[in-house]
Amino acid sequence: MRGSGGHVARKRFGQNFLCDGGIIAGIVDAIAPRAGEPLIEIGPGLAALTQPLVERAGQLTVIELDRDLAARLRQHPQLDVIESDVLKVDVTALAAERGWERVRVCGNLPYNISTPILFHLLDHVDVIRDQHFMLQKEVIDRMLAEPACGDYSRLTVMLQWRYAMEQVLFVPPESFDPPPRVNSAVVRMVPLAEPPQLHLPTYAALVQSAFSQRRKLLRHSLGRWLEEHGFAGSFDLQRRAEEVPVHEYVALARHPSLQPEA
Ligand code: SAM
Repeated sequence: MRGSGGHVARKRFGQNFLCDGGIIAGIVDAIAPRAGEPLIEIGPGLAALTQPLVERAGQLTVIELDRDLAARLRQHPQLDVIESDVLKVDVTALAAERGWERVRVCGNLPYNISTPILFHLLDHVDVIRDQHFMLQKEVIDRMLAEPACGDYSRLTVMLQWRYAMEQVLFVPPESFDPPPRVNSAVVRMVPLAEPPQLHLPTYAALVQSAFSQRRKLLRHSLGRWLEEHGFAGSFDLQRRAEEVPVHEYVALARHPSLQPEA
């Protein structure tokens, strides 16, 4: 299944193919696929991960945008190939169609759209068991950041309320062909079993407004948003967005005055 077969890496599809056997084994071990369990790989490419994954899982659903690569992958009967932009795949509907209660998701993601992919999957988190992704190391640093540090960002706050996350592997550029210009790492994301109940669009909007001017005090950004949305509680706006812990954003989004009309 593996081998480039003359395929030339397409930059616009974020194609950096894994070529380090030790790293590939490390990622597959971290995922630890079990036979028969539903598993989706995003961006299988030349099958560096796909091959060892399918050897352990027995079957695998793959989502690949590149038409030529999807055609090659379709030759393998153990692969259920979805030729599509992953951002257009309704994972909840897919799980329902395939009869999966919950599905595991993994992949060496195209770095140019990694944040949109993480946000897209957040909309489908209720059918996801866990996620293992190769990402730019700098993106993982933001995902795992603590308040009051430079990496603490909208991405941190949008993901930490819903997932427990940890870095499981560091991956240097030379593990890829062609090598990317940045360091990479693999993150494990496990949806919290009992997440706080909140209206996600409200949470997303208030977090976006808070981080829209991250150098200024919140009264210039979030303060205005709260006023426009009829917030009738108290919140310390004399801070910067990066100083507010995730649980305070969650509490704000759950405030009765901000709930959508029933
Ligand atoms: N898994 C392979 C590996 O580790 O060598 C390839 C990883 S490469 C970084 C990213 C893969 O995602 C490529 O195969 C690329 O064609 C695919 N891809 C890019 N954009 C995509 C999208 N929007 N939806 C699905 N796949 C995409």
